[in-house]
Amino acid sequence: MTVRYKCRHCKTEVGSLPFESVKDTILLLQKLDEKEEEHFLTYEKDGAMAVQCICEQCQQSLQKFPDYYALSKWLQ
Ligand SMILES: [Zn+2]
Repeated sequence: MTVRYKCRHCKTEVGSLPFESVKDTILLLQKLDEKEEEHFLTYEKDGAMAVQCICEQCQQSLQKFPDYYALSKWLQ
């Protein structure tokens, strides 16, 4: 199985890794997901797992315009 890394802001697929190589991270995220309101781990329609992260482009925008991202997060 493949785990996809997707940007939580623009939904771009940042990359994908085989489940075996990210197993420890997934287990950690599953524990976090139970407590956190914001989900780090989501499931795709085809059953694949997707880890919510942030791409380089959004990271840069976020540093430049933090207010815009705070706002767009609430509007979604
Ligand atoms: Zn992005």
